[in-house]
Amino acid sequence: MTLLSVETATARHGLLTAVNGVSLTLDPGEVVCLIGANGAGKTTLMRAIAGAHVLAHGQILLNGQDMTALPTHRRVRAGIALSPEGRRLFPEMTLRENLRIAAENGRRGDWTLERVLAAFPQLAPLIDLPTGGFSGGQRQAAAIGRALMANPDVLLLDEVSLGLSPAAVEGVYASLTQVRAAGRMAMLVVEQDLTRALAFADRVICMAEGRAVLAGRPSDLTRAAITRAYFGLT
Ligand code: ATP
Repeated sequence: MTLLSVETATARHGLLTAVNGVSLTLDPGEVVCLIGANGAGKTTLMRAIAGAHVLAHGQILLNGQDMTALPTHRRVRAGIALSPEGRRLFPEMTLRENLRIAAENGRRGDWTLERVLAAFPQLAPLIDLPTGGFSGGQRQAAAIGRALMANPDVLLLDEVSLGLSPAAVEGVYASLTQVRAAGRMAMLVVEQDLTRALAFADRVICMAEGRAVLAGRPSDLTRAAITRAYFGLT
């Protein structure tokens, strides 16, 4: 059964239509990577699914329940958690405090502090340090760990590798591979690195100018088709 269903979602920034009639579904345990050029609308779509941006049209359903009118905190309780672009941790607070707040606002489940630290071992020595001093890779791990603490059914990860060193990207994806193996959580991942997206995803969806212009399993898509879609040439 479909876990998340986005139906003809349209989202605007003032007069600009950033997301234009996008539909997509996620099944339990499925990993979908959203790709597309800067400004294609990926972040706006992720924020709309999380409840941080109000849709102008369309619907968002989780397990058949309508999320469209719910504020972010209610969607977290229903099972949708976002690790946002820019990571947005509380910089003066320690990692432990950041994770605790997320747990308090989320759902109970298997993702405890211990389990997050097991999946992201680089975070263990940092647990009582303020997150403001973290490196990019550490911040990304912390932000994903924070989203996991809410025990979502749908984990939304915006810009996983953006701004990270190659070693940090490797580390984050090694952890995400563990997270994926651990259960039935579905992931929607914005990934600028096409090679990485094709290697990690069960399916990819390419956005261009607010529309979903190409979708499929990595093995069914040619590089040429993806490149054309990327630049809005379909
Ligand atoms: P990026 O990779 O650059 O984040 P994206 O695919 O995530 O790109 P969005 O960030 O969703 O795209 O942006 C889609 C469009 O909406 C762009 O034209 C962008 O300039 C515009 N936009 C995004 N945020 C705002 C905002 N807060 N106010 C006005 N316009 C915005």
